[in-house]
Amino acid sequence: MERVDVLVVGAGLGGLSASMFLAIEGVRVLTVERHPGTALHPRASGQTPRTMELYRFAGIDHEVLGVSKRASQGLRITVSSSLQGPVFHRIVEDLGEFDLSPATAAPWGMAGQDVVEPILLERARKAGADVRFSTELVSFEQDDDGVTAVVRSGGEETTVRASYLVAADGGRSRIREALGVPTTGPGAIAHSIGVVFDADLGDHLERDVTDLYYLQNQEFTGALTNTDTPGRYVFAVDLHPERGESRDDFPQERLVRLIRIATDLPGLQPEIRWTGAWEMAARIAERFSVGRVFLVGDAAKVTPPTGGMGGNTAVGDGHDIAWKIAAVVRGDAGPGLLDSYEAERKPIAEMVVGTSLHNAKERMFPDLDLSGAPEPVDQVALTLGFRYRSGAVLADDDDRLENPVEPSGRPGFRAPHLPTATGSTWDFLGHGWVLFGTAGWREPAEAVRAETGIALAYRERGTDFDDPGDVFGLGDGGASLVRPDGIVAWRAGEVADPAGTLWDVLARVLSR
Ligand SMILES: Cc1cc2nc3c(=O)[nH]c(=O)nc-3n(C[C@H](O)[C@H](O)[C@H](O)COP(=O)(O)OP(=O)(O)OC[C@H]3O[C@@H](n4cnc5c(N)ncnc54)[C@H](O)[C@@H]3O)c2cc1C
Repeated sequence: MERVDVLVVGAGLGGLSASMFLAIEGVRVLTVERHPGTALHPRASGQTPRTMELYRFAGIDHEVLGVSKRASQGLRITVSSSLQGPVFHRIVEDLGEFDLSPATAAPWGMAGQDVVEPILLERARKAGADVRFSTELVSFEQDDDGVTAVVRSGGEETTVRASYLVAADGGRSRIREALGVPTTGPGAIAHSIGVVFDADLGDHLERDVTDLYYLQNQEFTGALTNTDTPGRYVFAVDLHPERGESRDDFPQERLVRLIRIATDLPGLQPEIRWTGAWEMAARIAERFSVGRVFLVGDAAKVTPPTGGMGGNTAVGDGHDIAWKIAAVVRGDAGPGLLDSYEAERKPIAEMVVGTSLHNAKERMFPDLDLSGAPEPVDQVALTLGFRYRSGAVLADDDDRLENPVEPSGRPGFRAPHLPTATGSTWDFLGHGWVLFGTAGWREPAEAVRAETGIALAYRERGTDFDDPGDVFGLGDGGASLVRPDGIVAWRAGEVADPAGTLWDVLARVLSR
């Protein structure tokens, strides 16, 4: 029997992120993926600045920016009948509209999933993760102390004993099914055939930016976009099972004809490299964890791709569960910390799915019935102005979102990004806990670190950073405790007993 701290099932964006961040934290992690390698389809193109902040923690942000072969990180989203046909409206003209540089040191990324996954894989392996392809989870059971799983590779079965199981096994998660966790939400809202093809489209799509077209015409509803590989494109066309259509109704000749209509190039000879059927769906697991098993990424929620949040939130889930499991495995935190995973990530999933559904109606399916669906929220606020509420933050009011360009420094929100002599306050984050304090907090912080062994760094106002507007909310004698994910756990403007308070706060947010 093999023994590890964590078994991760699935090596998509969710599973690879969890593996990478766990390994970086020194956790023994085994990841199994039934496919022979990483994704071939560039489906989740685009990294939000939040995802780039997390990639920065892992030291792979520059590499991710570098693999996008487009000349800029620009984005244009158009709804039209075809590439040259009437434009119904432009949803995004330029990513400059979403300039979040006042809120974060991390830029937008535009790289596709096919080129990002190998970077995550390499970093995870470098940090010590054991990632095995062509290996699938066959069965698992859990008890009070851990999870026992059977994995199969090349016809050979191995038993693995782990303290925790991370289920990153995608939208059709067998693990979620085996746990008996139901999902809610409208379910499938459309079916489509995806095609990756090579062709010379000349200047029909902008080369230097991500140029995404949602297409609505007499023949089909679909989408077309460029990729990180010059001359390679992704085309999707809707399939209608309710009209008796199946994948077999889309042979190569028909797909070529539809691509010619989409591009207005009747003589085009596209070379089709990949096709696959895909269900656009919206569903959320009722629970994100059962005992020692945690659902991550599409296993926890499936969102329509309209909004580009599925892959990004898979990475967010992976990071969240990784730092928390690492804290428990190391003994920094009690197992109660793990309850905050669902408490924090499920509301994000709900906002992402609700907002993406409204985007889908606006961009592709005007007849989509959204009665009962949550109202959309501002995508910029959702990206960087989200708030966590759980036992791992000591918040005292109920706001759920804020404008990240005007951060409040309140617990549950991302820590403020303020310029420092060498860069940003965010340069201090992502490698353990950080106490941003005023005079009198250095000693308590050092004492706690020495006695608990918890990686707690101390940064003093006036020495390490300036905060003339008191955005951190430290007042005259206060402090702000920031978690390894850059989220403020607690703050106070004035404290009578810094040492006692810090002990108490850490005990509470870490369920010690
Ligand atoms: C057409 C399309 C466009 C999209 N566009 C965007 C976008 O622009 N931005 C964005 O953020 N997201 C986008 N998404 C969504 C994004 O691709 C997914 O949300 C993301 O890939 C989810 O990652 P995951 O790791 O949770 O799941 P997956 O990538 O589905 O990975 C799950 C993995 O688990 C493996 N697995 C399953 N069962 C087992 C088993 N028993 N044993 C071993 N391995 C197993 C599977 O083989 C698979 O590799 C898009 C999706 C599609 C389809």
